[in-house]
Formats: sequence, C-alpha cells, structure tokens
Amino acid sequence: MTGMPAAGQPLRNAMTIDVEDYFQVSAFAPYIDRAQWDGLECRVERNLERILALLDRHGVKATFFTLGWIAERYPQAVRRIVDAGHELASHGHGHQRASELDPAQFRADVTRAKALLEDLSGRPVLGYRAPSFSIGPANWWAFDVLGETGHRYSSSVYPIRHDHYGMPDSPRFAYEVKPGLIEVPVTTLRLRGRNLPSSGGGYFRLLPYALSRWMIRRVNEQDGQSAVFYFHPWEIDAEQPRVPGIDAKSRFRHYVNLRHTLGRIDRLLGDFRWGRMDEIFLPPSGAAQAATTGAAAAALPRLGAALSHEGRL
Ligand SMILES: [Zn+2]
Repeated sequence: MTGMPAAGQPLRNAMTIDVEDYFQVSAFAPYIDRAQWDGLECRVERNLERILALLDRHGVKATFFTLGWIAERYPQAVRRIVDAGHELASHGHGHQRASELDPAQFRADVTRAKALLEDLSGRPVLGYRAPSFSIGPANWWAFDVLGETGHRYSSSVYPIRHDHYGMPDSPRFAYEVKPGLIEVPVTTLRLRGRNLPSSGGGYFRLLPYALSRWMIRRVNEQDGQSAVFYFHPWEIDAEQPRVPGIDAKSRFRHYVNLRHTLGRIDRLLGDFRWGRMDEIFLPPSGAAQAATTGAAAAALPRLGAALSHEGRL
C-alpha cells in the first residue's frame, strides 16, 4: 500500500492550532481597530481548554502557533499547552500580515513573540506561522529574518489561489527554503492541475466532512506525504459575539458551520494519526549537526533557493 512507512503504520499528520481570538482575524481588521482589542470579550482561554481536553481524549500531541499578544495576557493558558506535552510555536506578536510590515518591523514582531513564548515555556521556540499565510514572492526576505532569529521551520505559505493569500505555484510539501530553515506549507490536494485547500480553515467548515477526510487520505496515500491541518480556537465557538457591520463574504467565511467544527475535529483526530510539527518535519533533536546533515534535511529539495533565483523577488 502506498503512503505507508516501513514500520507498517499509516503516516502521521500534523495537527496545528493558531492561537488567537475572534476579533484578531485579518478579515476583521478593517472593522476592529487593534486599540479596541483589550476592551473586547476574550474567549480564547475557554476555547483552548476545550481543545486541550479533546486532544487529551485522543492522546494526540499538537503544535500551537501562539500569538505573543495572547501569551502576554494569558500566560497560564500557554503553560497549560506546554505542560500537556504539546509544541509551543509562534504566530508572531501583533497579528499584522507579514506582507504589511517592513523587514525591521517584522524582525521586531517575531523576536518579541519568540522571547515571550520562550520565557513562559522555558523551551526554545522553533516554529513560526505568519498571520494569514502572508509570506510570498514579494516578501521572501522574511525567511532570512526567521532564520536569523533562530527559527528552524515556518508554515507560512499556502500554495493556493485566494483573494487574501496564496502562492499557487510554490511547492506543496516541506522543503528547505534556506540552509537551516524549512518551509512546511499547509496541505493542498492536486486535482486536475489545480491545488485545492484541504487542510482546515473555512474550507473545512464549509465542505462535508467526508470530502475533507478523502482529501487528506489521498495526500497520505497518493503523495506519500504527511498533511498539515490547522484551525483556530474561535472556530469551535458558536456563541462568540458577532462583529457588527462586516461585509457578507467575511461574515460567511467566519461564521459558517462553527457549531459543527468541534465534532468534525473529533472525527478527524480519530480517523488519522497525528503529531507535532517539530516531531514530524524536523530532523531528530539532540544532534546539532542533524540540522544540516540529517536525512530529513538532506531529503528536502532545495527549491527555496531556486525560486528566489528565478526573479520572484
Ligand atoms: Zn492568525
């Protein structure tokens, strides 16, 4: 059977959670000034509790890309994540799209978040995910900054066509974007010459569960690759306050099927094997040399360099 590693076990997929609250999503930025954030009802803590309980029930360890802004206000929640054996990774500090920051601002944002998360957890933070998958050809320099600030992997490019993000012709699976830094794109399914989103977000809430399951299975079995799935704490929270006055498209994307998300994730956790990003995509820790000479790193195509040499910058 394809997609089965030597041990005879099905591939492990990466379960990831972008820890932010409902009022911080990029689509709401035109309607909610960030100066208002502190005055809004925060629901991330209780939603995290539900997620931690669900993961615990399935015995699954996941990766939490956590916003520095949240960690600063809810240090206990961050410690709960770490104490439960999950990987703490960074979602930056202030949730500005990387594409809206200059290199100095981006460096300041990711440095602040990393330091904060490391102080709270007492462990190195190796992973970063840009808000709204906002790294692409126009800000490829962001990878230099991530490498220089001690990140080992990123999950910030979405190889699809979308009005807010996406880089449809970039690699679909993990690759070395520069020496010592791996980009692990969120998973897509290649079908009839197009990349289809198949790994979370609004699409997972909109499509029937069986279709989402079929897409992940296909990636595991036909591509022989681990999938990267993502969701947000606010996506399991049907009772969250409604943001008034937003445009119809953003409203639909944000609120569709919230009530079904937790049950679907429950099924997903039971239907596949899951793990943390660092355990699935980084070479085994312990040997510093493994970062550059390990089998996992060596197997990754050096496409990042090729892309930046083809005039994408
Ligand atoms: Zn986000």
